[in-house]
Amino acid sequence: MGKEKTVIGLDYNAMLERAISSLPEELRKAEEWALPPIEIIHEGGRTTIVNWKNIISVLNRDEKIVLRFLEHRLGTVGWIQKGRAVIQGVYKKSRINKLMEFFVKEYVICDVCGRPHTKLIKEKGQWIKKCEACGAWRVVERI
Ligand SMILES: [Zn+2]
Repeated sequence: MGKEKTVIGLDYNAMLERAISSLPEELRKAEEWALPPIEIIHEGGRTTIVNWKNIISVLNRDEKIVLRFLEHRLGTVGWIQKGRAVIQGVYKKSRINKLMEFFVKEYVICDVCGRPHTKLIKEKGQWIKKCEACGAWRVVERI
């Protein structure tokens, strides 16, 4: 029995490898896309996101929008200081992470093709997420 399992395992891996290598380059890149883990420090009643610059560059969004989103969701104020985001109040890493995951889902990832190649456009007072890969778009929640 044990031997059989190994054989199946190998076949499955080989199949998976073949499937992945036959994917178009663009799609493979999208699969690898992920937000880096958020690094925070708590100091003097404030929460600082240390790797803010890195996060912003991966998100490819205006940092003011991301900060405003965090401010509104946490009900506090924040500012950018020396490439870091400083938020008034002490917030757990897990809470910030959850909010950022929501941000990615709502404002970055295309709902149709699942790729991160989208743009946020403001039209008639509404924010629209438009995908540059497949052309899909939708109105997103107010930031
Ligand atoms: Zn798309």
